[in-house]
Amino acid sequence: MSDKPLLKIEHLKKYYEVPGKGELHAVDDISFEIMPYETLGLVGESGCGKSTVGNVLTRLQNATAGHAYFDGEDIVSANGTRLKEIRKKMQMVFQDPYSSLNPKKTVRSILEAPLRIHKLVGKDQMDKRVEELAEMVGLEKYVLDKFPHELDGGKRQMVGIARALSLNPKFIVCDEPVSALDVSVQATIINLLMDMQKKMGLTYLFVSHDLSVVRHISTRIAVMYLGQIVEMAPTDMIFENTMHPYTIALLSAVPKIEFANKVDRIVLKGDVPSPMNPKPGCRFAPRCWMACDKCKTITPELREVEEGHFVACPYWEEAQKKARERL
Ligand code: ADP
Ligand code: MG
Repeated sequence: MSDKPLLKIEHLKKYYEVPGKGELHAVDDISFEIMPYETLGLVGESGCGKSTVGNVLTRLQNATAGHAYFDGEDIVSANGTRLKEIRKKMQMVFQDPYSSLNPKKTVRSILEAPLRIHKLVGKDQMDKRVEELAEMVGLEKYVLDKFPHELDGGKRQMVGIARALSLNPKFIVCDEPVSALDVSVQATIINLLMDMQKKMGLTYLFVSHDLSVVRHISTRIAVMYLGQIVEMAPTDMIFENTMHPYTIALLSAVPKIEFANKVDRIVLKGDVPSPMNPKPGCRFAPRCWMACDKCKTITPELREVEEGHFVACPYWEEAQKKARERL
């Protein structure tokens, strides 16, 4: 296994100008790496910037600043044929395959499109390749002649996955791929993604607001809050030695998690505020259950406090102690 990261993200920013209001900091200076064959889970409440990270990495959107190297090449500044080449190697699986699949096209023609556009398969080989793709993800042959609306959510997502796999990518951003599915189907899709990862040597960025889903599939987890990463660690570490007050609060709300059993449920008040014109200080401070005056002025840095475990709160030890005392 290579010890070089497949993706190296450096000080990545995505700001939106909102007329009359100011600058919305959707992604605000994040840096991390993704190693080949790993799954990095990206979690956080709705609106904290997870999808924007995925969109910028796959160049559905342009970054405002920073770099994102894929196999050594900067995705942020690539264009023309180089961008086209990179794009082939990076695909996306969306939350709602219904809105991302053309409703007027059959599954067969949906799966043919990328192969045709990139001229990967000749006309005579097309049927064979499309049937291969369908079989790979566990879709029966008859599904190829159906339209997306004729399929249930699980099958539609299988089509979404088959389409993402059609160009033999190296890296896939899965953006809430099971959030719209029944719980009974979620496991099927997660297992399919894990199976494909093994068979095709894929690397995933797995975006979800659901910690138990992320836990199941991820090798490492990054927790986002208002455009920034507040904690990042290998999966076991983040669940066993939870450090950031935000992560502690998120985990305390999930039953069947060790840490949740050791602490009282911490209820976060209100929704994630808007990341418009952010003030200095810790972004989580206004909702933090243990913020002090300093938190409102000093911006915490993401620091490595044990091997591979990063946290952006200087008071994490106190947070752990307090959380345990609350039981
Ligand atoms: P998440 O995926 O974590 O729910 P998003 O990445 O979708 O979060 O959004 C992050 C922030 O960026 C939110 O405050 C959202 O309202 C804002 N945002 C997303 N897209 C746009 C846009 N095109 N214009 C302005 N603001 C946007
Ligand atoms: Mg999202």
